[in-house]
Amino acid sequence: MTTSGVPELPADGLTFAYFSMEIAIDSAVPTYSGGLGILAGDTLRAAADLNIPAVGITLLHRKGYFRQHLDSTGHQSESEPAWSPERFLELIPHRVLVSLVDRQVQVQAWRYLVRGESGHSVPVYFLDTNLTENSPADRTITDYLYGGDNRYRLFQETVLGMAGVPLLRALGYQRIRAFHMNEGHSALLTLALMEEQTWGRGLQTATSADEEGVRQRCVFTTHTPVASGHDEFPLDLVRQTLGEERTNLLIRNQCCENGVLNMTTLALKFSRYVNGVSMRHEEVSRRLFTNHSIDAITNGVHAPTWTAPSFQRIYDRHIPEWRRDNLYLRYAVGIPLTDIWQAHKEAKQELVTEIERRTGIRLEPGVMTIGLARRATPYKRLDLLFYDLERLRRIVRQVGPIQVVCAGKAHPRDESGKVAIQRIFEAAARLQGAIPVVYLEDYDIAVAQRLCSGVDIWLNTPQKPQEASGTSGMKAALNGVPSLSILDGWWIEGHVEDVTGWSIGDGWRTETDRQAEVESMYDKLEFVILPTFYQRHNAFVSIMRSTIALNGSYFNAQRMLIQYLQNAYRRGGSIQP
Ligand SMILES: *Cc1c(COP(=O)(O)O)cnc(C)c1O
Repeated sequence: MTTSGVPELPADGLTFAYFSMEIAIDSAVPTYSGGLGILAGDTLRAAADLNIPAVGITLLHRKGYFRQHLDSTGHQSESEPAWSPERFLELIPHRVLVSLVDRQVQVQAWRYLVRGESGHSVPVYFLDTNLTENSPADRTITDYLYGGDNRYRLFQETVLGMAGVPLLRALGYQRIRAFHMNEGHSALLTLALMEEQTWGRGLQTATSADEEGVRQRCVFTTHTPVASGHDEFPLDLVRQTLGEERTNLLIRNQCCENGVLNMTTLALKFSRYVNGVSMRHEEVSRRLFTNHSIDAITNGVHAPTWTAPSFQRIYDRHIPEWRRDNLYLRYAVGIPLTDIWQAHKEAKQELVTEIERRTGIRLEPGVMTIGLARRATPYKRLDLLFYDLERLRRIVRQVGPIQVVCAGKAHPRDESGKVAIQRIFEAAARLQGAIPVVYLEDYDIAVAQRLCSGVDIWLNTPQKPQEASGTSGMKAALNGVPSLSILDGWWIEGHVEDVTGWSIGDGWRTETDRQAEVESMYDKLEFVILPTFYQRHNAFVSIMRSTIALNGSYFNAQRMLIQYLQNAYRRGGSIQP
């Protein structure tokens, strides 16, 4: 795969402008909550590596996403992270106005440059309403990621979409091939484009040709396979916030049903290209949105970001081209098993040391270590491993020891997610003396980097078909860590039994069956994984190596971005403003 030879846009042009409510640029910049923001950051890092002219647009989130604290029973409390935009970002002089209810709100922006392997950089603009010209309430619009009520959320989405487009123009970007909406939060950018399209004559004059003009420039990625996961706003609130004329346009375009504006419907309506984030998710989304054509581009992760230093060193030694072109990871099949194991031992030691530093708990580097981490929310079933503690104890007695490392935040309002964390703490207490279980607080990029690379297997137990993709197993794969996972999301594509890991359950077409899945998970551990780990060392390390070659070479952000270029950005569509 190569991107050279494809004509690019001139200097003022962008291949894509990436709009996302969260963009994870750095562990110390708490403007992201999880998967969606990490994917956005990894996409832009890949664009920088591949010399693609692109920008990212997001909100500043001055008060960030919360920090997680857990007491000795696993009860979660939250605090505001302290961070100073000045330390990481550069304030730019451009300002834009966005009309909100009965007033104009001023928006400024901060810039971060994502630098690629070869020096090309991709700017990310963080929109910020905290200006003395704005009312005290308006100054807080861009403060909290996923905080506040419906009104606050609609104000945020109005700023993201409707200030983002004029900011790009103010920065001189007139030719933009694709406006990419990463999830429906930024769908109001279509209204901003429609206002450009009908400039001087008013939105009420919009024709179907104008609508098509907007559609030709927009691309939409949906991430949520459940209907209730899509943003909706009551029409009264929309009318009050956006005004009569804009609301009428949304109604005329069938984006409002049963008295609510659905942001996914809006994004679908005005996009020339729509995709889900795995093959399975495409199928589920097609059933959810029957009137739209939906494609699939399976997620990937940014390889250098998610590869531990010890593995970076052996890749640099054996396949130095891997940084420029991740496909070279295919040739990891030629790396000696002893080198793979040595790199893994180092990554595992790093994790063990970090866990001791953070918690005082000392894990045993020689013991099979199971890692699991994700947002604590019911469908992710974070605590499924601990369903039958007797069985776990028996496995350990009969086959060999295990230890478990967990992490994940629950959204402050997600009570069942919080309860799942407490259940893990209860299980840990009951397993004391038999199976060490560590729960790391405040899951973030830095924790994920250590965790995904330092464990021996990665466990993922979502309730199918609700995992749109999942990405942490991909991070693990880049470090030779095989997955034990329910066949859902990306794992349906990445799973080759005994070669890249192991499946849980009896295939992906069947209904979810918790009891059968639990049995299958324990059976795989007892009869396949632990015996291989403890008694057939070389066989286990071979599986680690083929995990890198098969899944590291494919489930990376370079492959993903090249697919976006071929299927979404460069295909069709006018680049004129
Ligand atoms: C990768 C990552 C996620 C997303 O993991 P999934 O497997 O896609 O659910 C969430 N939070 C952090 C900190 C991550 O690094």
